[in-house]
Amino acid sequence: MKRLAILGSTGSIGTQALDVVAAHPEQFQVEVLSAHSNAELIIDQAKKFRPNAIVITDETKYEQVKDALALYPIKIFAGKQSLNEVVQWDSVDMVLAAIVGFAGLSSTMAAIDAGKTVALANKETLVVAGELVMQKAQEKKVSIIPVDSEHSAIFQCLVGEDLNSIEKIILTASGGPFIGKKPNYLLNVKASHALEHPNWTMGAKITIDSATLMNKGLEMIEAKWLFGLKNEQIDVVVHPQSIVHSLVQFTDGSLKAQMGLPDMKLPIQYAMAFPQRLRNDFKRFDFKDYTKLTFEEPDYKTFRNLALAKDAMYKGGNLPCTLNAANEIAVEAFLRNRVSFIEMSDIIEGTMQQLSFIEHPTIEEYEQTDKEARAVATELVKNSQLAS
Ligand code: NAD
Ligand code: MG
Repeated sequence: MKRLAILGSTGSIGTQALDVVAAHPEQFQVEVLSAHSNAELIIDQAKKFRPNAIVITDETKYEQVKDALALYPIKIFAGKQSLNEVVQWDSVDMVLAAIVGFAGLSSTMAAIDAGKTVALANKETLVVAGELVMQKAQEKKVSIIPVDSEHSAIFQCLVGEDLNSIEKIILTASGGPFIGKKPNYLLNVKASHALEHPNWTMGAKITIDSATLMNKGLEMIEAKWLFGLKNEQIDVVVHPQSIVHSLVQFTDGSLKAQMGLPDMKLPIQYAMAFPQRLRNDFKRFDFKDYTKLTFEEPDYKTFRNLALAKDAMYKGGNLPCTLNAANEIAVEAFLRNRVSFIEMSDIIEGTMQQLSFIEHPTIEEYEQTDKEARAVATELVKNSQLAS
């Protein structure tokens, strides 16, 4: 029995992880659940999965959750500090980090500090502070098992291989809903349109990141730290069918790919059960449905966020942290129709130009960078033509 703390249980990854738990009650037990503000859903989840504790990070929802679960033997905590405590409990074997954004960093660090195995969905953690996170994981002998489908693919390709025999990795990108479009077209796209991803159903933030290709940029940085690669060893190819989830090219020129239908439950289950593979009834791939798989170069000129992220990866230091914070602000503003699709890149670029560079930041300096970058990006949002 693996005892799980599922952080972000009300999100897209969190709810699918609970589907996996429900399908394999003999394998998994839910020890902790957490949500930010979706009180109704976490109350339902608590009644169904009977965790030992739940954390609602939005403190204004505490009373509601407490009242609803008064008759259940479930401990209820509020506030983000509680997350850092519950992940360290002896009764937790694995922490599924499925909070979105910078907000997921501190609880993931706390879990690693306590020596817990981490199934990592929260890519922003590695984008912001990958070097420190991986150092800490090594020091504490903690395994970080990727949930992100591309990284899970690479991880699966590397089972039984020597990391030194990697020549490069190739991350596949679906290209999102605006694949093949040019900047003129992007001038007028709205959030509702960008939220319609062709292959995956995900949370709002990552869906916008997929439309701008920022998601792939974040994933390049995530892969760099996760697999200890040099910048030059990381490539991206656009593969609209999302069947090849990523590839590894080895020093002898051999390529390994991991394939399957696009269904996040698969990498989630793989990470949760690793090193086992569990049987399931997920829909199987059929070649008759996919007679053509295609691959093309990404368009860095149109999708500037991908170029900005690559630039941040190469320059390193606190720049990926700045990029990430500015992106979180830009995406939120775009979702509220406060800035246009194209302006998101202007905000990120402008913020990267304004913040001072720190080559080897401490965790406190990352926190400071995140704060400052958010403030600068928020100012830039106000300059938008759409801002009222
Ligand atoms: P989501 O928006 O659907 O869910 C986010 C979860 O985090 C919710 O449970 C929410 O309550 C919680 N949360 C939000 N803000 C919080 C805060 N400030 N403090 C504490 N908790 C907070 O997001 P998602 O799509 O499930 O993505 C989660 C993470 O997984 C992201 O980092 C994303 O990049 C990554 N990821 C997601 C997918 C996917 O298919 N959805 C695929 C690969 C990677
Ligand atoms: Mg991904």
